[in-house]
Amino acid sequence: MIMQRYSKITQKNQREIVLLKGRPCFWGKCTFCDYIEDNTRDNELMISKNEEILSQVTGEFGVLEVINSGSVFELPKETWAKIKQVVDEKQIRKLFFESHWGFRNRLQEVRDYFGVEVWFKIGVETFDNNFRQNVLIKGADFETPEEVAELFDSACVMVGIAGQTIEIIREDMAIIQRLFKHATVNVFVENTTPVKADIELIRWFEQEFSFLEENPKIEVLWHNTDLGVG
Ligand code: SF4
Repeated sequence: MIMQRYSKITQKNQREIVLLKGRPCFWGKCTFCDYIEDNTRDNELMISKNEEILSQVTGEFGVLEVINSGSVFELPKETWAKIKQVVDEKQIRKLFFESHWGFRNRLQEVRDYFGVEVWFKIGVETFDNNFRQNVLIKGADFETPEEVAELFDSACVMVGIAGQTIEIIREDMAIIQRLFKHATVNVFVENTTPVKADIELIRWFEQEFSFLEENPKIEVLWHNTDLGVG
């Protein structure tokens, strides 16, 4: 499958976005996740492919988002150096990276290395501790959303997975609006895993929460390629 690895977000939160190749996600157990199939152990391939993708960055918005089907810590050090070079040459003033909860004690390392404003996204999927930990097997053992908001800038939550409830979604939507300066809502799209979407729940969400699209700090992705990469 040919993947789109560079795109521009030209509406809310304008930025360029690149989908790089990284090492296997250290966790790799989330039941709904098949994007780790893009991970590789081939260091040379990662380095050269990532260089090629990063060479497309123009810096036109001064903001770059880097994703890699895992955490920024799973990118080779040579790719970190290449990103840093792009930041310097293209005058990028703000970076977005992704990190799993398991790396929460290393976020400052990234901020220090890149020397510009860094916003960390975390795939929380839901703040309902039981659904997140025991159904989705997310491996993110925080107790309260405040613990996450203290460390991460942007929460990514998922909507429409079979087994999720209206109450869980209402609570998640309230939390992202109240506690985070940025959030992404991913409407679940069935993939190669056995996890099913709940179409009724998605229809309900569309009716109840499409107003979130007007919120400048929240991005609702109705399809998992809505950011133009994937
Ligand atoms: S942490 Fe992210 S990349 Fe890793 S298995 Fe879970 S969803 Fe997939």
